[in-house]
Amino acid sequence: MKLYELNQQISTILSEAAISEASLETFYILEHVLKISRSTYFLKKSEEVSKEAYERCICIAKERSRHKPLQYILGTQEFMGLCFYVNENVLIPRQDTEGLVEQVLAMAKGGERILDLCTGSGCIGISLKKYMPSLQVTAVDISFEALAVAEKNAQSLQADITFLESDLFDKVTGTFDFIVSNPPYIESAKIPTLMPEVKDHEPLLALDGKEDGLYFYRKIIEESKNYLNLRGMLCLEIGCHQGSAVAGLMKEQGFVQVEVAQDLCGLDRNVYGRIGGNHV
Ligand code: GLN
Repeated sequence: MKLYELNQQISTILSEAAISEASLETFYILEHVLKISRSTYFLKKSEEVSKEAYERCICIAKERSRHKPLQYILGTQEFMGLCFYVNENVLIPRQDTEGLVEQVLAMAKGGERILDLCTGSGCIGISLKKYMPSLQVTAVDISFEALAVAEKNAQSLQADITFLESDLFDKVTGTFDFIVSNPPYIESAKIPTLMPEVKDHEPLLALDGKEDGLYFYRKIIEESKNYLNLRGMLCLEIGCHQGSAVAGLMKEQGFVQVEVAQDLCGLDRNVYGRIGGNHV
């Protein structure tokens, strides 16, 4: 079979399964299996493909046609220009979350202590350490399986950070200059309405923000006061309709300079606040 015929076959499998970006994902599969770039595809499209490569591509396409995210099938997702290993124990890092990392990097001067709560794949904590190596990063997750993924990423990306298996602050000791988190924030009742890629494959534990979606924000905001240094910052990713609720919770708990920031689509995506008052 020729390469362009394989391209058509994969594309047909994906389109028939109503995968919205079928032709783009076809290229991702070809690039992954054949180790070719999109431009070399056009040079080589009339060449024969080996039987092994053909079978591997079709096998991936069939798995994808059952709406398993391609990132879990291929085992990777890029985040902040770094390549993260992912499996179904962790949320797939989203481009939206890069804004949180960039904002923390812009505010940090170097050497600060950072706590990444609900680290999942480790994408936030590891990227912070990679782009500002003087930071001292501790990354926490309740899931042992997620931490295994995060630790694997820290190792392959050579990021020297500390991991802790803990239900939010339960096992955390010491104080920090920044607490960052992208906690689970989807209302439980909305989860069945999400796309199959998310509701059937991403870990419920990483999505479910309980009844009103704000459960983890309440806990993090209340408890972070005991773990922030003087003038320490709490930096949260939020769902796009949660800006005023989360900002309100922060103000209630004594945070000052509370700001809601938008993502590249103009949607509310992050809330930042500085701890006020006389503590720690
Ligand atoms: N911190 C990880 C991320 O941003 C995981 C978040 C989560 O599990 N809710 O992708």
